[in-house]
Amino acid sequence: MRRRISIFGATGSIGQSTIDLIARDPQTYEVVALTGGQNIALLAAEAIKTGAQVAVTADETRLQDLRDALAGSGVEAAAGRRALIEAASRPADWVMSAIVGAAGLEPGLRALQTGAVLALANKESLVCAGPLIMRTAQAHGTHILPVDSEHSAVFQAMIGEDLAAVERVIITASGGAFRDWPIEDLAKATPAQAATHPNWDMGQRITIDSASMFNKALELIETKEYFGIAPEKIETVVHPESMIHAMVGFNDGALMAHVGAPDMRHAIGFALHYPHRKPLPVERLDLVKLGQMTFREPCEARWPALRLAREVMQAGGLMGAVFNAAKERALDAFIAEAITFPQMAAVVEEVLSDLSTYESHNPAEITLDKVAEADHLARVRADEFMAR
Ligand code: NAD
Ligand code: MG
Repeated sequence: MRRRISIFGATGSIGQSTIDLIARDPQTYEVVALTGGQNIALLAAEAIKTGAQVAVTADETRLQDLRDALAGSGVEAAAGRRALIEAASRPADWVMSAIVGAAGLEPGLRALQTGAVLALANKESLVCAGPLIMRTAQAHGTHILPVDSEHSAVFQAMIGEDLAAVERVIITASGGAFRDWPIEDLAKATPAQAATHPNWDMGQRITIDSASMFNKALELIETKEYFGIAPEKIETVVHPESMIHAMVGFNDGALMAHVGAPDMRHAIGFALHYPHRKPLPVERLDLVKLGQMTFREPCEARWPALRLAREVMQAGGLMGAVFNAAKERALDAFIAEAITFPQMAAVVEEVLSDLSTYESHNPAEITLDKVAEADHLARVRADEFMAR
């Protein structure tokens, strides 16, 4: 029997890399649902190419466009949030969660509820609702596989190891577009400059988050939530070459590193074939050509998001949902050129202190509704703060 696969966010950077891998082996996979947003032509083309059951655009005003693009193909067309959730509830064996932002949480939860294995690129799911998503996987007898390069690296370094023997986890950071800029120039940085990454080819939002290190901030929280590792054991180091993705340090002093080219098909392919390893079409590193790998301390004056992430991890409760939502609004405003690059962190910090009552939520009682409420309020507060 072929493996049933769905890809949420199929038209994005991660979605496209996932399709690249499965399209190399069409006999093995049966595609259930592909979802996308505004890029109807690409969504339709991929659905036809992979023989998907259904293609869903998140934008309900684009249903007719999608129908037209799929005419005669036999692929079902659907549109809107409700259709997305319906498609996510269709039985599948393996699901890629690669929508960007908090919008990716509910589809992933629905997939887990069907018992599917969830390959999780959408780190926001863990940041906003870590205990809920981990508990849902457990309750439905399935599991989540991390598809962030750092978390896939940690996962691989921990295979066969005992969590109790882990002394520290080191998540590497490239430093993004502005790692070498004078700090005083950051206020002049444009969205186009921030969306250029030195090593990785990714979606616009995560690339800007790499420059501000909000991406690394989300990843620190993601590490805590996914692996259950204490915040004080999680470190980050700037590693401009992006060859080591993460390291795990054990109680005997050993450091296990995952080294590989900056290509997300490493992490996606690992999750696709897990628990086996299969050949992947990724570059084999030539270490002599690479010459050297360097490391620097992450400067918190340049990247205040790292300090905010520590505060969020200490606070717990629903502060991850507040943090992420405030960050999403601040990022929207920066992209719209309504605030400057350094102002993003200031907005998030303000919202965190304003909504600190969300610290008191018991992790065991976090529900989708409570996450949605915290998320909504954080967006409102961020907008109010930015309007002043
Ligand atoms: P992207 O912007 O390239 O693609 C996002 C996808 O989500 C698109 O298919 C888009 O149509 C869809 N989408 C956007 N908003 C939506 C909404 N409101 N409802 C439904 N669908 C929506 O993003 P990406 O770079 O592929 O990142 C996807 C996720 O993977 C993010 O959570 C990101 O943090 C994570 N991630 C990405 C990379 C990478 O290399 N790109 C690496 C690690 C983790
Ligand atoms: Mg990452």
